[in-house]
Amino acid sequence: MIRQDFARIDPKRRSNVDFRKKQFATPTYHNLEYKHRLNFYTVPPTADITLEQFEQWAIDRLRVLAELEACSFRNRSPTETAAHMKPLLDKYLPLSSSSSNSPSLQAERQKDHYSHFILRLAFASTEDLRRRFSRVETALFRLRFQADDVRERMSFVEGLSLDWEVVTEDEKREFGEELKAAGGGYPKRIEEESYFKVDWERVPELVESRRVFLRGGRAYVPGREQASMVVAEFTAKLDRALELTSRALPRLDEDDRLTPILTHLSNNFTTPDASYPTTTAPIPGAEITARNIDTLSASFPLCMQNLHRSLRRDAHLKHYGRLQYTLFLKGIGLNLEECLLFWRQGFKKITDDTFNKEYRYNVRHAYGDVGGDSNRRGNGYSAFSCQKILTEHPPGPGESHGCPYRHFSVDNLTALLQQVGVKDQEVLRGVKEDKEKQKFHLACNRVFEYAHKQEIKKVKDDGTWGANQLETIVHPNEYFKRSYLLKNLGKGQDGAEPVTHDVKMED
Ligand code: SF4
Repeated sequence: MIRQDFARIDPKRRSNVDFRKKQFATPTYHNLEYKHRLNFYTVPPTADITLEQFEQWAIDRLRVLAELEACSFRNRSPTETAAHMKPLLDKYLPLSSSSSNSPSLQAERQKDHYSHFILRLAFASTEDLRRRFSRVETALFRLRFQADDVRERMSFVEGLSLDWEVVTEDEKREFGEELKAAGGGYPKRIEEESYFKVDWERVPELVESRRVFLRGGRAYVPGREQASMVVAEFTAKLDRALELTSRALPRLDEDDRLTPILTHLSNNFTTPDASYPTTTAPIPGAEITARNIDTLSASFPLCMQNLHRSLRRDAHLKHYGRLQYTLFLKGIGLNLEECLLFWRQGFKKITDDTFNKEYRYNVRHAYGDVGGDSNRRGNGYSAFSCQKILTEHPPGPGESHGCPYRHFSVDNLTALLQQVGVKDQEVLRGVKEDKEKQKFHLACNRVFEYAHKQEIKKVKDDGTWGANQLETIVHPNEYFKRSYLLKNLGKGQDGAEPVTHDVKMED
């Protein structure tokens, strides 16, 4: 939902907007007709949409892009990526072919078109964001291009009017040997293939893998490599457009409805944000009680295992650690009474009196049992997402909250992983590399996949879990729920609710 203050326009500010600075000064507001499923996004959208659509469409696309990026970081092959992404694309960003005659065809294409432009605004601000956005948008385009109906794809490419120069028959004969050599001996007869000439910079992939003949700064590209050319063209156009957008961005600061949404979206690109309901339905068959937490902690992500271990070692946790852990425990289904019992027993070096005076109130507050305004949902705060843990309140000396993948040194992280049973050298090496690249939640997912390797294989082979139930984890509570269900397969859990999370704007 859009926050009320997003939707409210301060009349004073709006009237002060300098008309000369309006980015789309004389727009012609109309709905576009989308002839093709694929889109080069050269024409900006001009029809009206609601703020809710603006936000929701962008979030849906962001979710797809984040997952696509995760596939690339995990070195999934193109076939694996396509299989993994299909259910997600069908759910969040479906695009039917023209021949399907689907009644939602135009609406789907409109959502795709608008969401691309919204995210373009959100990710144009820094070079790093622009580069990442261009890379994942290109990956998405490539995926769709390859999956497109052959005839529709041809008609789309023809409509692009790209200035590729056709290589004449004479030229083909003149450079026949070189062309064949670049194609690894293919084609046998040079007449069987058509070639285009383009500036070599437009097909870097082909040049890099030496799949084209180069002469005078021009690359001779065989017809079968058309996909690479189209994709390279897509990237080049997008990169140019992102540069232009970044220059126009300051004007958007004057729009107090969009700026907060765009800022939130670009923050979400660090780690996709996921909020978890403040209270969750208990996992069927799981006994979530104070005395079971020690056992259940085997299914906790490393951040919560670290808090649990610190609590057991020191019989104490500092304020922010208690808050992070309490909200997590509440999220897994521990009720207030049990949670108070858990903390009371955990802080075993202090008296009942001290506990009641200094700690009891905060636990009740987290559950929404006491507290005023800030506790506005009535049932307390939501459990922290990975994004929140990774980016807010880094732990200081003597504090145990945060995310070990981010906040620990490599040596301490490795030692902690070994203590919790991750001894595989390849996994530890992978985690170290993820950490160096600042892909902390991917390190966490790597460990999850390692710790549940057999179970994941089983649910995939059985077909009991779909790919969207194995999406990249971006929330500690989701980690627990998925881990618990996988570790208890065959104990009446298989039919449990699929593991999902809702990405939405946090208050
Ligand atoms: Fe916890 Fe998220 Fe870090 Fe994993 S990535 S340890 S779930 S904060």
